[in-house]
Amino acid sequence: MDPERKVAAEEKMREWCVALPKVELHAHLNGSVRNSTLLELAKQLGDKGVIVFEDVKDVIMKNSRSPLECFKLFDLFHILTTDHDTVTRIAKEVVEDFAAENVVYLEIRTTPKNNAAKGMTKMSYINAVIKGLKAVEAVDVVLFDSNLRTNETLSCTPMIELDDDTKKKKIYVGLLLSIDRRETTSAALDTVNLAMEMKDQGVIGIDLSGNPVVGEWETYLPALQHAKELGIPITIHCGEVPNRKEIQAVLDFCPQRVGHVCCLNDEEWKQLKSITIPVEICLTSNVMTGGAPSLEMHHFADLFNAKHPLSLCTDDSGLFSTSLSNEYYLVAATFGLSKSELFQLAQDAVQFVFADGEVKKSLRRIFKVAEKRLMLPAEFAAPN
Ligand SMILES: [Zn+2]
Repeated sequence: MDPERKVAAEEKMREWCVALPKVELHAHLNGSVRNSTLLELAKQLGDKGVIVFEDVKDVIMKNSRSPLECFKLFDLFHILTTDHDTVTRIAKEVVEDFAAENVVYLEIRTTPKNNAAKGMTKMSYINAVIKGLKAVEAVDVVLFDSNLRTNETLSCTPMIELDDDTKKKKIYVGLLLSIDRRETTSAALDTVNLAMEMKDQGVIGIDLSGNPVVGEWETYLPALQHAKELGIPITIHCGEVPNRKEIQAVLDFCPQRVGHVCCLNDEEWKQLKSITIPVEICLTSNVMTGGAPSLEMHHFADLFNAKHPLSLCTDDSGLFSTSLSNEYYLVAATFGLSKSELFQLAQDAVQFVFADGEVKKSLRRIFKVAEKRLMLPAEFAAPN
């Protein structure tokens, strides 16, 4: 194919990936902040003397960041999310951004924080997030609130179904409360109890995340066990580093989903595949943080070929300058998946959502309608 036609074909494929309805299961609230917002908030913190703005300005403006620069921004995110208004703003914008690229179902994960100086408790932090979700106007946000659910007609309308400008898009949003690996057993238990308390307000699961070289599995196990006993779905960041003892413990614990699974050995791969725990695949994130040597050598291919349940996710779309549409484009461009395979991949993710059966039914309907538009006979061809 001549270069010009190749560029045009790539552009068309990117547009198709945006039009594809998508399910996002692994997105951290803090890591998904828009660059423009990050810049504005960093400037404000700089003016107050909390940080040196010039130190972070260039890193924020960059599109491709080194692992070291990513960690620098991680620290900044933590400073930013210490007041309620900022948390609310970020939550609102993150949902708007995902909805704008046709994500029809979004699970956002975030670590509830206590910050006595700002009058912030774990509950008030999550309430600030929920306030942000409710403030979204550009799109109808359906939280998994039991009250909302009874009034909900479940007639989702993603962008691709719209036939006039008056109709609004709809996005289903659920919250996962993250246990940070730095936390104590008691703090982790508080998070699980909070998830239980807020289960009718949009909280639908528990996540274990944070710096993978910090903390011990035994510290979080009582909280994870407690969540399991309460029937709260759990997802765990697994194998970001080759911690044999912990990877084995996670696989034995058998959560509903795992994220990443970068550093598994042959035996662990075998076990993961035999127990078929769905995997949240974060291509760009894994390559940028060194969990995978390159896109081409990412373990996506092995799991996909083994027909292992998996779902493409962004992890931290702001931090890694990606989007869910881009992740779909990358698997097409790197591994040669056809449009029908991409469509199937997106649709299969519905099975692994933590929401209830009614939401799943509604999502399946969305994909059915979208299939007619996106999978015209001519579209079944492979991308090149
Ligand atoms: Zn993550």
